[in-house]
Amino acid sequence: MNILILNCGSSSLKFQLIDTDLARIDADTDLLLARGVIERIGSQSLISLIRQGGAVTKLALPLRDHRGAIEWLCQWLIAPDSDIPTINSRADIHAVGHRVVHGGEKLTQSLLLDTAGIKAIEDCIELAPLHNPANLDGIRAATAILGPSVPQVAVFDTAFHATMPEKNFLYALPYQYYRRYGVRRYGFHGTSHRFVAYRYRLLTGLARQDVRIVTLHLGNGCSACAIDGGVSVDTSMGMTPLEGLVMGTRSGDLDPAILEYLSHKEGMPLEQLLGVLNKQSGLLGVSGLTNDMRELLAEERDHKDRRSTLAIELFCGRVRRYIGAYLAELNGANSIVFTGGIGENSAEIRARICDGLRWIGVELDPALNAQAIGREALISTASSRLAVYVIPTNEELLIARDTFRCIWARDHEAV
Ligand code: AMP
Repeated sequence: MNILILNCGSSSLKFQLIDTDLARIDADTDLLLARGVIERIGSQSLISLIRQGGAVTKLALPLRDHRGAIEWLCQWLIAPDSDIPTINSRADIHAVGHRVVHGGEKLTQSLLLDTAGIKAIEDCIELAPLHNPANLDGIRAATAILGPSVPQVAVFDTAFHATMPEKNFLYALPYQYYRRYGVRRYGFHGTSHRFVAYRYRLLTGLARQDVRIVTLHLGNGCSACAIDGGVSVDTSMGMTPLEGLVMGTRSGDLDPAILEYLSHKEGMPLEQLLGVLNKQSGLLGVSGLTNDMRELLAEERDHKDRRSTLAIELFCGRVRRYIGAYLAELNGANSIVFTGGIGENSAEIRARICDGLRWIGVELDPALNAQAIGREALISTASSRLAVYVIPTNEELLIARDTFRCIWARDHEAV
């Protein structure tokens, strides 16, 4: 089954086209047919795409909205010069899987979309005003372009964390704010943490109930997750993705009273300050240079830039703090697992984080760590009390498989 995976941001669209079915899932032979990203939707859009076995195509085109972008994408996928033999017309796109950021408390599993499902996602807009509207645009556009008979499935970033116990998801605020307004921690990056926990099970041969790990998704957005018995019991992002680790441009944890103080000092309304916390803080804010960890490491190495070092140290220190907290939460763990752009690719950052964990018996093997770039690997020594792994994430693959499974379940329940 050819499944188009859409991840719609406010002015961007990432996509993959994946061929999967029961046999492919069993054999782990799902086929990536094409992937790409369209940025700056609404103006002169920048498009970067690659078909299976082909070269990268880059172009710029005016695309007015998500509908225009998806329309153009479908045309490109079925173009006569396409190298994808199984895609010849729109009818060959059999289903669509959407990454949806917020599912609130009700949408705790991947969902085959119908009118009620779309309404339920709309009901979560208040909780994710920056993200859910774009996800809904993608759903409506796909329906308009591919027709209502093509099944669409929503996979929620929050869903994996629905197993968090109340003591971990609740803020120590007056309880009625939770009851009345749903003010609680929801967590995000759930599809990534879930995928990594699943791959970890395959790698180690452990049964689900024996998986007790701390997963670290370190990319432009960053989050940690404590996983016990294969399910999330705590995670660092909160009611919004702003809480927790230091990120590319997000501050992560801070004293909320700072908001009032800074608002007064800078004469800035709260909304604008939240923009600073989301878009101008984190690695970018501390270094004053960039949100890209590669560039910070180069600045440190080549120019001994003090604030680049400071940003990196703050980043690593916060990750260590969460590892410590989650090891306590889990009463010990089997492993720590790194994923995300930084976690998968930067041996240096992994080493700097783990360097402060010797007290708990974490011992990285420098050679294994250096070799583990963008691939699954054990990077700790045989004598390390806690194993450390790198496991590249693949949220799109999980979305494709969930999409297939939801449709399969519908067809088999209906008989
Ligand atoms: P993601 O959001 O998961 O795509 O991760 C993006 C981030 O990963 C970028 O902002 C980079 O800072 C970081 N990154 C990617 N490759 C490397 C690398 N080799 N070393 C350090 N950071 C990297």
